[in-house]
Amino acid sequence: MSTEAPTTPKLRTDLFLDGKFVPSSSGKRFATVNPATGETIAQVAEAETEDLDRAVAGARQAFESGPWAAMKPRQRGRILTRAAELLLSRAEDFGRVETMDNGKPIFESAKIDMPAAAECLAYFGESADKLYGDTFPARPDAMLLTLREPVGVVGAITPWNFPLLQAMWKIAPALALGNTVVLKPASVTPLTSLLFAELLTEAGLPPGAFQVVPGPGAVIGRAMAEHPGIDKISFTGETETGKSILRAAAGTVKRVSMELGGKSPNLVFADADLDAAAKGAINAIFYGKGELCSAGSRLLVEDSVHDALIERVVDRAKKMTPGDPMNPKTRLGALVSEKQRDTVAGYVEAGKREGARLLAGGNRASVEGKGAFFEATVFDEVTPSMTIAREEIFGPVLATLRFRDEAEAVAIGNSTIYGLAAAVWTRDVKKALRTAKQLKAGTVWINTYNFYDPGLPFGGYKESGFGRERGRYALEEYTQVKSVWIDLT
Ligand code: NAD
Repeated sequence: MSTEAPTTPKLRTDLFLDGKFVPSSSGKRFATVNPATGETIAQVAEAETEDLDRAVAGARQAFESGPWAAMKPRQRGRILTRAAELLLSRAEDFGRVETMDNGKPIFESAKIDMPAAAECLAYFGESADKLYGDTFPARPDAMLLTLREPVGVVGAITPWNFPLLQAMWKIAPALALGNTVVLKPASVTPLTSLLFAELLTEAGLPPGAFQVVPGPGAVIGRAMAEHPGIDKISFTGETETGKSILRAAAGTVKRVSMELGGKSPNLVFADADLDAAAKGAINAIFYGKGELCSAGSRLLVEDSVHDALIERVVDRAKKMTPGDPMNPKTRLGALVSEKQRDTVAGYVEAGKREGARLLAGGNRASVEGKGAFFEATVFDEVTPSMTIAREEIFGPVLATLRFRDEAEAVAIGNSTIYGLAAAVWTRDVKKALRTAKQLKAGTVWINTYNFYDPGLPFGGYKESGFGRERGRYALEEYTQVKSVWIDLT
């Protein structure tokens, strides 16, 4: 084990355009704040639409000509695998920056998010030269085949909950396949994306292949969706924002993929291992402070084990006290902002008002008198029509509901507009698979929760979006198919 004290790397706070950090054309800056202390970490350059135009022009040029366009897929792949090694070796440093910007425990950012981001880069780096076209033995007088070609300039718009990891799910496959990327990180958490631009350059990425333009979503994000020079938008964020991007992208018939919100059901049947299910339920809702698109925010419990399970869950929730995110022992950090804490508090009030029973938490909290912390909160006796059972809270608030049988469990599970993830806890393999098939969700976990692999696709059903990140499905998102007819006569 290293005995060196962890360091905070030199922050990068300018736009990243054509391989260089530069101020925005207006000189404007915005503050990014540490939600655990309320202190401003840095003033970050705010892109204007002229800066976006410049980013897109540079990305276009890099895509069409120059070193990036001329590289063999395997060379591109090597840059990404080198970047993966660099990121892994700096996981602690990057993790500290992520934790300062987002409020998540350092345990999560340094030990889970950064290694996962590096693994994603390595996975796609290794995939760069493994994409095949088809040939068709359809005719004696011609050879018919398909080529998979990059889409072009990809606009990536990312949220604040897993700032670098969510970006990586887009950047890694897009670059691996020869696209160029213009990234707009969420304004509250831009720092690791900027640091990553520097790391990619160190790994050998040529100028223009990756551009970063922090700025307001309603201005820069919207301009990206409308931009005629951007060929595809890959968006992760709220469902309502996704809808507005879809409308804005229609003008240029842009390709889009959408990773949106969730209200995922976590179903516990009477025959489940209740200790494991209780632990899983806690991980499902309190990992990432509940600011997780796939959070298991609805715990559905079969009547006969309801009390036994809820008791275990509440016991564990009460032990999840908010703590200093920089402390490696902390498991519940600060919410991303005061604004988000107000939103969460509003939902807790709605839960109480509509008759749900508060069993744990429910209050704002602070650590050493500071920070946007919130207690681990559990509501019982929630019904499917209550606000806290229908809307995405994006905070550490668990709504528990009861069901009588399998059919009712599935019906309640499917009763929201969302369909991102779900889980089933049972020892009966047929019941597990039957239920998994009936749940309308892009991911179903069985007897576990919140596990991810870069090879396993992730994405939504219903209003949780469309398109898939990771795995070979992600490779399809970032290529287009060209049919070639070769006359043999
Ligand atoms: P958000 O929709 O507010 O913002 C996401 C990004 O979109 C940010 O970069 C923001 O600046 C930008 N944006 C805002 N308005 C825009 C507009 N009009 N046009 C273009 N871009 C705009 O989401 P958030 O609050 O940052 O993140 C939380 C949401 O993200 C939750 O709903 C969560 O479920 C979702 N999410 C989904 C996934 C998934 O994989 N499905 C993963 C993580 C987060």
